[in-house]
Amino acid sequence: AVKAVGIRKSFGSHEVLKGLDLEVAYGEVLCILGPSGSGKSTFLRCINHLETPNGGYVWVDGSIMGYELNRGALQELPVKRLRAQQSQLGMVFQHFNLFAHRTVLGNVIEGPMVVRGLSRDEAEARAMGLLEQVGMAAKASAYPSQLSGGQKQRVAIARALAMEPRVMLFDEPTSALDPELVGEVLEVMRNLARGGTTMIVVTHEIGFAREVADRVVVMIDGEIREMGAPQQVLSDPGDPRVRSFLSRVL
Ligand code: ATP
Ligand code: MG
Repeated sequence: AVKAVGIRKSFGSHEVLKGLDLEVAYGEVLCILGPSGSGKSTFLRCINHLETPNGGYVWVDGSIMGYELNRGALQELPVKRLRAQQSQLGMVFQHFNLFAHRTVLGNVIEGPMVVRGLSRDEAEARAMGLLEQVGMAAKASAYPSQLSGGQKQRVAIARALAMEPRVMLFDEPTSALDPELVGEVLEVMRNLARGGTTMIVVTHEIGFAREVADRVVVMIDGEIREMGAPQQVLSDPGDPRVRSFLSRVL
């Protein structure tokens, strides 16, 4: 579903991503772990072209993110087409980024109506189904300020799903939450995984990675240092720097 090849990214003279390769299959759940500053968020942002990589390419469903082929040559996509392409990737951030002046339902129908051209009725019917799925249907007419962090994050997930993305990208979706609210969000993500949603999840929740991930990646200093089945990577990493990182978080 997603393939990244040779992704490089620098900010000034600081090389944050040093040539990353990653392939995620349909229905696969991949968790990315790694110390703070190792480039996890930058990598996710390069995958959906919120940041333009300095090198390498990302394929989603066979099309190259940010580019089109024109008479055999790669050309940068105009912003409008890039936005349409990006909408195939659902993104959930650490901070919820809901529209404060819209209701829960308003937040979920916005993308489908504006980007996909769905009618309000159609968008609302689908949105209610998604809110049901994340346990937020009863709060459809509430405003974000009236919700807990965990509830906001579940709405953010419903909003991303409303665009029917090929892949869901999560960047530490629970790390800004009070501990007692983490479980409800992980539960929603666990259900998505069970339902076959393709997911790339940056997380510090080792328990979630161990239980839900098909594969785990450990990034250190802008490189993928370890990649494999969770039990292998988490219990028996070959790389000494990965071992030292995991011994601090496990
Ligand atoms: P964390 O676990 O703390 O979220 P991370 O692994 O997500 O960390 P990134 O946010 O990707 O790390 O940052 C990797 C490095 O890139 C850091 O040194 C950071 O300071 C730097 N960086 C990220 N974004 C920018 C930017 N827009 N401009 C300059 N430097 C940046
Ligand atoms: Mg980050």
